[in-house]
Amino acid sequence: MPTDPFLEMVAKKAQVKLPLGEFDPVSCLRVPEHEITWPAAPVIDMHCHVDGLDLEAVVKVMDACRIEHMVNISLAKGGELDAIMRKFAAAPAGRFTLFVLLDPAPLARNQPAGRLAEELERRVEQGARGLKVWKDVGLTARDSAGQLLRLDDERFAAVFEKAAEIGIPVMLHTADPAAFFQPIDARNERYEELAAHPDWGFHGAAFPSKAALLEQRDRVLANHPRTAFLGAHVGSMEEDLEKASHTLERFPNFSVDISARAAELGRQPRTARGFFLRYPERILFGSDLIPEISMYRLYYRMLETADEYFPYPTHESGQGRWRIYGLELPVETLRKVYSENAQKFLVKI
Ligand SMILES: [Zn+2]
Repeated sequence: MPTDPFLEMVAKKAQVKLPLGEFDPVSCLRVPEHEITWPAAPVIDMHCHVDGLDLEAVVKVMDACRIEHMVNISLAKGGELDAIMRKFAAAPAGRFTLFVLLDPAPLARNQPAGRLAEELERRVEQGARGLKVWKDVGLTARDSAGQLLRLDDERFAAVFEKAAEIGIPVMLHTADPAAFFQPIDARNERYEELAAHPDWGFHGAAFPSKAALLEQRDRVLANHPRTAFLGAHVGSMEEDLEKASHTLERFPNFSVDISARAAELGRQPRTARGFFLRYPERILFGSDLIPEISMYRLYYRMLETADEYFPYPTHESGQGRWRIYGLELPVETLRKVYSENAQKFLVKI
């Protein structure tokens, strides 16, 4: 077969294999860029984990970014949590609210389910003002019989009712991004992130499906209409804002935070903008990232500007190989999302 030297050269070049981790393209786009150093309204960061950080340093970042208040969701349990409660009792006044984690361990030890509500009550007496239920409930936590615990398990019902009785919100982190439930392979859009954290993958028969987990969540929302629920990470419906909309319509006791989901919202700017404009009172600002000035500025840029194709705020291993676009939200929407909606979830007891 006669060969064409040019085609041969092209074929040879195409065989060059560049490891994915070394591919770091620099965009050649020249488009307007706007850095938002001071957001359009005061901000409450509804979703942070700063147990281990120096709070004076955190407050410096807050002051530089117009963050008036921060919700720290403590990940500590038992004696460690006692120390965290003391740390936040001594924190700069008025700047922090503490949420505690629901620890399902008593159910693994076959202790009565009433323990969970008692523990919540005790922590609220010590200063906690919210309960967080993490994704371990549904995905990995088991009871004393070795059965996976479901979020809609009867044994959790008393805790959700107790929260309503005391008047504190319950933040639910149920399920995860859709890609975390898919095989970690060349077709997974978050391959690099999952390759860096294989334990974040929930594909396969050992785990319930994402749909099944969200059904458990929806049953809880239906069963406890008096409880104020907040769905972390757009209620894990960030890739499907139509579904998120249906869920907000169905459950008036449910709102969502946008924490750690700028990558998802910013890659669908028209759909996401419509979502914010339809539910301006049901969406809350949260970061879920290490408090840094540059991180907050990227969130503000996404929410406030019409900038195109810029990096999203993220943890170190990134979330996917794409860039985001600004939503250019009107100031009256920003005011609500940044802090007015959060005010309703921050209770004084
Ligand atoms: Zn979190």
